[in-house]
Amino acid sequence: MPFGVRDIAIDLGTANTLVYVRGEGVVLSEPSVVATDQRTGEVHAVGIEAKRMIGRTPATIAAIRPLRHGVIADFEVTEAMLRYFIGRVHRRRFSHPRVVMCAPSGVTDVERRAVEEACLAAGARQMHLSEEPSAAVADAGLDIAEPTGRLVVDVGGGTSEVAVISLGGIVVSESLRVGGYELTEAIATHVRRAHNIAIGETTAEAVKFQIGSAGPGEEEDVAEVRGRHLISGLPSTVVLSAEEVRGALDDSVQAMVDAVKTTLEATPPELAGDVTNHGIVLAGGGSLLQGFAERVSEETGIHAGLAESPLTCVVVGSGRALEEFDTLERTSASATRRRSRWRR
Ligand code: ADP
Ligand code: MG
Repeated sequence: MPFGVRDIAIDLGTANTLVYVRGEGVVLSEPSVVATDQRTGEVHAVGIEAKRMIGRTPATIAAIRPLRHGVIADFEVTEAMLRYFIGRVHRRRFSHPRVVMCAPSGVTDVERRAVEEACLAAGARQMHLSEEPSAAVADAGLDIAEPTGRLVVDVGGGTSEVAVISLGGIVVSESLRVGGYELTEAIATHVRRAHNIAIGETTAEAVKFQIGSAGPGEEEDVAEVRGRHLISGLPSTVVLSAEEVRGALDDSVQAMVDAVKTTLEATPPELAGDVTNHGIVLAGGGSLLQGFAERVSEETGIHAGLAESPLTCVVVGSGRALEEFDTLERTSASATRRRSRWRR
């Protein structure tokens, strides 16, 4: 490896961006949020600091999520964000890193190019795309190059990806533009309709973490939320039960479960047999919803379990591929062969 060059893997998620530096592991994990000054276009804050500003900014500052449903909705802001994150990890000692970027399996060519451009504009020397579902499984320590079927469900902020992988590639997949945000939004909508109270995204997400679920639990808790009463306009409080929150989440949860079923129906029989034997792997922050794994197991009749680290497995799996970079370079006669491995 030439002096001063580092390879990094980036998981550019709708909700969170993670960076893995070769030889070091995950060095950055922050919300994909940018706060910009509306008058000057200047970037005010990025990541955790910017997320804290959501719903709390003065008129001149906007806290933006530049990605929607896993794709770039605002190119300039995405570029600024990537530039900031890449800058933070490579400022110290190296320039123009080679980057492996995880992209959802459903991205179009145009979207792929947009990610690549943003990455190069942000200072990368080269970019390779890796498929998210394969990366998620690679972290589970499973040999994805085996001719064995594995089913992965990745519930992110704005997407749910279901894929069956064999021989390192995707055989069947289903991509749904419903993720953790839709669950959060469903809670806010419910509170507005049933209780006439407007609550912000941050509050709704806190309710989801606290008492949200995909199935009945043993001890059901309640959550007290504060918002603005739609009629009086004054601050108001309501107590929500776990059961009503579950009801509010059910349509979106069902859509995710249905995507898993549809994928199973389209899976060739040999691979479906493998999936039944090995179980379903759940990844992404959204799969941490209480009772989600049980719900998937129940409805498919196949055991579903969380990946060891659902929020980091995609970037760590891609990072694993980075560690092999030199081996690959040494063993492959030409750069073309190397590329063909990255670009499946
Ligand atoms: P992305 O890959 O799209 O950036 P992540 O995998 O980081 O998404 O997941 C983010 C989503 O996971 C958010 O919608 C967040 O609310 C949700 N999430 C994180 N932790 C939990 C939890 N414990 N329970 C329910 N949802 C969670
Ligand atoms: Mg993700």
